[in-house]
Amino acid sequence: MSKENKGLHVVFTGAPGCGKGTQARILKQKIDICHLSTGEMLRDEAKKDTPLGRDLKAALDRGEFATDEMIIQMVSSRIDEDDCKSGFILDGFPRTLPQAEILEVILKEKNIVLDRVVEIQVPDEIIMERILGRYSCMCCGQGYHDKFQKPKVYGVCDVCGGTEFSRRQDDNRTTVKNRLINYRSLTYPTIPYFEKKGLLTCVDGTGTIEATGDKIAVVLGLSEK
Ligand code: AMP
Repeated sequence: MSKENKGLHVVFTGAPGCGKGTQARILKQKIDICHLSTGEMLRDEAKKDTPLGRDLKAALDRGEFATDEMIIQMVSSRIDEDDCKSGFILDGFPRTLPQAEILEVILKEKNIVLDRVVEIQVPDEIIMERILGRYSCMCCGQGYHDKFQKPKVYGVCDVCGGTEFSRRQDDNRTTVKNRLINYRSLTYPTIPYFEKKGLLTCVDGTGTIEATGDKIAVVLGLSEK
């Protein structure tokens, strides 16, 4: 069957802290496609002083998922926006089996073919250390880590020169434990689902950001081995 839609359409999946967001940002810079992070969309919504915003904030702070209905609605309309016309990376979606099943229906309706699902694999011990040390520039969003990725000049963002940084509220030990439990029980079933469809490729995410990025580029046919 010929591919009618243009651009690359991929899902980045894996446990919280595996590097999905970081790798999605790198890929976006490389090939200029839309980075669609449901976590970021929800954090924006949770900042609003509305009943939905307050409920969402409470759920995210506990490491609980947003409802499938809400997420599906959000993603489906976001995909229709102009910046997704040249392709997209779904980061953090689908996160449950019903989301994965509905994604298939949505993409079919929109005549979009999903090219690949990349699972970034990182063991839990490494994940905890990564998440508890990460923070980002409040001005441009560039990510850093207390141990693995410090700014070149202490307190100054390498990218935009910003001097204010923040940590995600859900990046604390208790919430991360909960997020890992939810990942295993709710998200992990999507892995065999995509494997059966022949769409899954697993990538070792324990190396450096660059090394993992290189592996992903090979998997997506953007560079040679
Ligand atoms: P992330 O930025 O991908 O780590 O997502 C942060 C939080 O947003 C997660 O811990 C969930 O509570 C929520 N979230 C993100 N994506 C989804 C999704 N597809 N379905 C349900 N909840 C989500």
